[in-house]
Formats: sequence, structure tokens, C-alpha cells
Amino acid sequence: MAKYIFITGGVVSGLGKGITGSSLGVLLKNSGCKIFMQKFDPYLNVDPGTMSPIQHGEVYVTNDGAETDLDLGHYERFIDINLSKNSSISAGKIYKDVLEAERRGEYDGATVQVVPHVTNAIKNKVYSAATESQADIIITEIGGTVGDIESQPFIEAIREVRMEKGRDSVIFIHVALLPFLGVSTEYKTKPIQHSVKELLHSGIQPDIIVARTTGMIDENIITKLAMFCNIPKQNVIVALDEKSIYQVPQALEKQNLHKIVAEQFKIKLQNTDMNAWNLFVKKINESTKEIVIHLVGKYVELQDAYLSVMESLKFAGYKYGVKVKINWIRAQDLNEENYNEYLKNTVGILVPGGFGERGFLGKFLAAKYARENNIPYLGICLGMQVACIEFARNVLKIGDANSTEFVTNTKNPIIDIIEGKNRENIGGTLRLGAYKTTIKNNTLAEKLYNSDEIMERHRHRFEFNNNYREQFEKAGMIFSGIYEEKNLVEIIEIPKNKFFVASQYHPEFTSRPNKPNPLFDGFIKSILTT
Ligand code: GLN
Repeated sequence: MAKYIFITGGVVSGLGKGITGSSLGVLLKNSGCKIFMQKFDPYLNVDPGTMSPIQHGEVYVTNDGAETDLDLGHYERFIDINLSKNSSISAGKIYKDVLEAERRGEYDGATVQVVPHVTNAIKNKVYSAATESQADIIITEIGGTVGDIESQPFIEAIREVRMEKGRDSVIFIHVALLPFLGVSTEYKTKPIQHSVKELLHSGIQPDIIVARTTGMIDENIITKLAMFCNIPKQNVIVALDEKSIYQVPQALEKQNLHKIVAEQFKIKLQNTDMNAWNLFVKKINESTKEIVIHLVGKYVELQDAYLSVMESLKFAGYKYGVKVKINWIRAQDLNEENYNEYLKNTVGILVPGGFGERGFLGKFLAAKYARENNIPYLGICLGMQVACIEFARNVLKIGDANSTEFVTNTKNPIIDIIEGKNRENIGGTLRLGAYKTTIKNNTLAEKLYNSDEIMERHRHRFEFNNNYREQFEKAGMIFSGIYEEKNLVEIIEIPKNKFFVASQYHPEFTSRPNKPNPLFDGFIKSILTT
């Protein structure tokens, strides 16, 4: 029988509920439990697919093609699991399902209401995550802050789960801010008390409080929190800001969070094996030399828009004992006159994914600079497409080469919608989720992946136009990865250059702390080897 952990947030948002949940997941997984994670988001968008990366951060994509919140990336990277559509559920998705069922007449004439219809739909998502994943423990993060109007149906639903499954199968963890008041130099427990009171109004008594705070707090604050939040003292966990988010599992391990969970669940854990994790953290701390990558993108105002790319660069860096820093360049700022100046000291250029024409020129010039100056280049999705357009215009002298994303009636659609404009047979409007790439022999891609077949995740609409393949190949670009079933280009490389590789898929989604994705690995390695 599956066990359930629900994580709520209190006082303010942005406290790292996702990191807390993932870290607990790491501890439980390393103690022999099978873990599945899930996030409920109270907003009404059906999924984050259409939300602006500048507002909401990156859209993370799972193997089964769900467009999800960036927290899912943390879950996958920390716990090293592959999540699914069951892992990211917004209020919008729940309401949509309920309303569609209502239209189909599935409620048999009943008055459709938030309680029980919406709450039942939420509970079903929790239970189907358990059935489908066959995990021992499902960790569910409730987005937002307790007290928000939007999150109430979720709070009611998890209360009901506890009623249905009982105290030894359901744990409520409340992650809340314990503020420090500079003037009176003391920590204040009142906001947490209020937040817990708010939960109690909804019938939820938290079992564990994770107090997010800034410095070591004294025993009497813990005693006070325990007393007024109605929990045993050892169930008050203190979570400080760590130097790296990857140190959070260690901090929670010291306070036995996983053991407190196991005790309430009445389960026996194996010895917690944190060796690999500790080694990774050691590598982070021992990586002192810095290298700076130039990342030319459209949404650099909010670095969360490139969260998985950043983490992937870091993981690859740690593998070689270096800290990778990023010089963020707004693609819109680059032009023919200034791009040399912007890029002159670069050791590596990365052009990430993106949508729309804005910033195209900047990315195009970044690819040009990298190709002409033999600077390591990693292009991701749109970063591959602009590299192809650049090659077409400047090497093949096809002056008007373009993508039909930008110019619909271009005479030279190097990048185009393939499959007779109908993408339904390969995943709807966007090509989403994991696809098989076959890798050509004797290519850099083969060397990097050390395999001739890989699975990587996609999120795009346009593809390289095969009509131009021969010309490109004659001029020195290799198509080293192909999705054979539909004959689509997945990886390009220019062997003449030290490292010029780009992929139609998003390699950043499959990087893990101790296993950077091979493209990132090769990119960083090429920068470090002269
Ligand atoms: N806009 C491009 C496409 O849809 C690239 C998408 C991306 O970079 N994720 O094909």
C-alpha cells in the first residue's frame, strides 16, 4: 500500500518546498524506498506550456511529453527518476477535466460542485499516481501558500486523503518561514503559528514543520514552535539557506527527517546510503576554478527560464572540477556592429531553446561567431535551428535562408514544419517528449554518447528541412543524429571545428548530478582541453 506525503507552504512563497520534498525523496530513495513525486499548482492555466518563461521560468518536459512546472526538474535531478503526466497538475487541468465530464453527462444530472467533484478529481490524481507508478511513497507538493483562495480545494482534498488512508499512511509537512527581526535580534514564531492555525481551520494538523530560517536558532524557539504548533519537538526541522541546494538532503539527514517519516509510516528503512550524493557535494565544494560561458538567449531577465540548462552546465563543470559561471547576453541586444565586442573573450557559446523571431539576429550572430572563430558551441533546439540558418546563409550563400517560424513564405525554408503541416501523428502541435535518436558511426555524437541509440526529450514545432541535407553535408555539416522513423534531423555537428554541436532535442532535461548529459559534458570538456 502506498504512503503519501503532502508538502504545504506557509507565510511566504518561494521557500523551497520543491527542494525540501526532493531532498526528502533523496533520503527515502537512498534508504530503499521507491519514490514518485507530484506537484499541484493552484493556477488556472491548464499546464505551464503557454506561460511566459520570463514570468514562470522554464517549461520542463517529461518523457511522456507533459509540459510542466520547473520544480519537476528538481524532482527528477534530485531523485533521478522519470516522472510523468501524473506529476504536474494544475487547478486549470482539474477544472477542465471536471467540466468536460459534466458536458459528457458523466455526473448523471448531479449539481457539479467544488466539493465533492473537484476535490474527488484531485484525490483521483493522487491515487492514480500511486497506482501507475507503483511507488512506495508519493510525495506531493501543493503549490502556493496556505491561506490562498486558489489552493483551498487542494487542501480539502488532502485532508480527505488522510481521512481515507489514516495517520500511518499520510504525513503532512508544512514548510514555513521563521523570520529574524533585526531590530530586536530575535526569531519570531508567530507567522508560523498563524499559518498552522490556517491549516487547522481546514482540518489539517501538520505532522512535521520545516522552519526555513537564516541562522541557527535556539532550543527555546524550537520548544515554542513544537508547543504552539502541536507537534513533538523532534518534528520541528530547521532548514537554513545552504550554499548549494544539493546540500539540503544532507542537512535534513542530520535531523533525521526520513526517520521521523518512517516511524509515523511504521515502515523499516534500509541503511541510508548517501555515498554517491556526498561525493557529488564534495565535488561541488572542491570545484574552485571558474569558467565563463556566454549564453545568448531571449529570456535572460529571469534566469529560471534556463534553470535546467544552468544545472546541466554546472553538473558538467563539477565533473571536471570547475565552476561554470554564465555571462547572460540578451539576444535582442546583439547586432552586426557590436557582437564581436560582446563575444570577444568567450571560451564557449550556448544558444538555448526559444520561440518567436525576437532575438533571432543575436542568436544567429552568436552561432556565426562560434563557427568562424572555432569557439565551442552548443545549440539547443532553436539554437540548432539558428546554427543551420547561419550555415546556409554564410557558408552555402543562400542569402534568404530562414525558418518558416519567422517568415512563412520564404523561398528557402531551411527550417520548416515537416509532415505536410500535420503534426498530429508525431505528438500534436508540438513534438513533445522522448523520441529515439539513431546516432551515426564515427561522429562526435557517437563518441559523446558512446551509444548508437539514445532517447532525448523534445519541445518544438519546426524541423530541419531534408531537401537541404545534401548541400549542407557537402559543405561540412554532419547530421549525426536522426529520428529514423520520420527521418528527422536531431543532431548536427561541424567536424572541422573543435566542438560545434547542436541538437533539436533538449539535452538539459536528462542531466543528473552525477551524470551530466553527454552534450554538456563534451561541451565543457572541449573548453577545458586546449
Ligand atoms: N521555436 C522553435 C520550434 O518550435 C524551437 C523551439 C525550442 O527551442 N524549444 O521549432
